[in-house]
Amino acid sequence: MVNVIMHAITSVETNVKWNGARSEFFRPQRGIRQGDPISPYLFVLCMDKLSHLIMHSVDVGEWRGIKVGRSGPMISHLMFADDLLLFGEASEKQMRCVMNILNKFCLMSGQEVSQEKTSILFSKNVNSGMRDKLLHLSGFREAHDLDKYLGVPLIGRAPKKADYQYLIDQVSNKLAKWKARQLSFARRVTLAKSVLEAVPIYPMMTSRIPQSCLDEIQKIQRNFLWGDTENVRRYHVVRWSVVTMPKDMGGLGLRRLDAMNKACLLKLGWKLNNGATDFWCEVLRGKYGSNNLTIEMNTRSSDSNVWKSLINLRLFLLNNTFWNIGDGCATDAWNKAWIEPGYHVAQHCEVPSYLNGARVSDLVDEDGRWNWQIFRDWMPSNIQGKIAAILPPSAVNGCDEPAGIGGNNNEFSVAAMYENICGFDRRNAQLMWKKTWQLNVTKRVRCFVWLLTYDRLLTNSRKSRMGLGHAMCNYCENVEETTIHVLRDCNLVNY
Ligand SMILES: [Zn+2]
Repeated sequence: MVNVIMHAITSVETNVKWNGARSEFFRPQRGIRQGDPISPYLFVLCMDKLSHLIMHSVDVGEWRGIKVGRSGPMISHLMFADDLLLFGEASEKQMRCVMNILNKFCLMSGQEVSQEKTSILFSKNVNSGMRDKLLHLSGFREAHDLDKYLGVPLIGRAPKKADYQYLIDQVSNKLAKWKARQLSFARRVTLAKSVLEAVPIYPMMTSRIPQSCLDEIQKIQRNFLWGDTENVRRYHVVRWSVVTMPKDMGGLGLRRLDAMNKACLLKLGWKLNNGATDFWCEVLRGKYGSNNLTIEMNTRSSDSNVWKSLINLRLFLLNNTFWNIGDGCATDAWNKAWIEPGYHVAQHCEVPSYLNGARVSDLVDEDGRWNWQIFRDWMPSNIQGKIAAILPPSAVNGCDEPAGIGGNNNEFSVAAMYENICGFDRRNAQLMWKKTWQLNVTKRVRCFVWLLTYDRLLTNSRKSRMGLGHAMCNYCENVEETTIHVLRDCNLVNY
């Protein structure tokens, strides 16, 4: 296998076009061919060796990474594709250890560390003498921030609008290529949704993007949808709050970015609270010393921004976690939602103090049925009715499990959470809208029908009500140009 791969990559001959003529063939000596489908795999295979070298060094106690919290994992390196982050103590010994391993790897692989693209970021506690020594030892330059990792800026403080200016720029750059006024409304809907909306999604999954930045992106999106240009502001005929409704509820299905950001972050909180073993979960648990986000938690100003965001959202998360009752042992009977999503008994009636802390499993009698004697004297009958509709807890049902928020199974669905945050209730979906979007015509026509349903065609009648000109039809005498006139009654239509 090794021979096959080596043959495949060493037998390559290539030439380049130089001033219009092809040069002689030569054999590339360094790196792997770009664009070859197998190249990424080879790259990963090779980088894996570096990872092994580092892990070995950590195991024998030479390389000391940074430890996150007392019980947290030690981080020595993070790799993704061609991004590589190494962590180590700021000491000459550690620097030598890091450089040794890099050199060893370079010798083995024939790769070289790019001096240009490599830099060192020191923690605040490293004095300037030590900085100079380490920079000298390594030959790398000093960086003052971590720039971006996987396209998301790494900043150790609360993000400002300026940190995410690049998102706004990306959105504007995309727009610059399109001429909004030359595109049909349907085309603009598609682009606003599939391209503009997609730009901030990736960083939104892990960071709380400043509201002002989201507002700005949303404003660009909105202006584009209605065909505004730099100089001309056109009439925004349907309110944004309607445009961002789901399609079967009368909107165009564009997303509200702030709600989307919240839904993405809630997914992180959900994973943390449900025992996910992702590396970032272990790091957070190590640093903040808790397995779950609880109501009692508070943040300190020195806490990381992600953590603060999660703490801010914890109440929402806890209120929206619905518990599927198994044996009932893990679920607080009065302060957790197990009867209906978001429904806590303690919020709807006064629970007697002697029942404080009761679990759902405490509410059944010896025969495994609901013990109505417990509820009789204090619980309103409507709540009792709700409980009667639920199967009593039983050991055969296994542990209590958090149900997916808004989702159908035990997974967290960002899309469902988003609808929950926006308060969209699919029961309000209207057949009329469903049928509109199912019409067997081009999207252009469907979007036209959408506008029509809101009676938002800019007819003369409508314009005159806005104080723009007369209301009469330009072709018919003494008839007001209403929507129905334009589409059906006008002489021009019947001509
Ligand atoms: Zn007419």
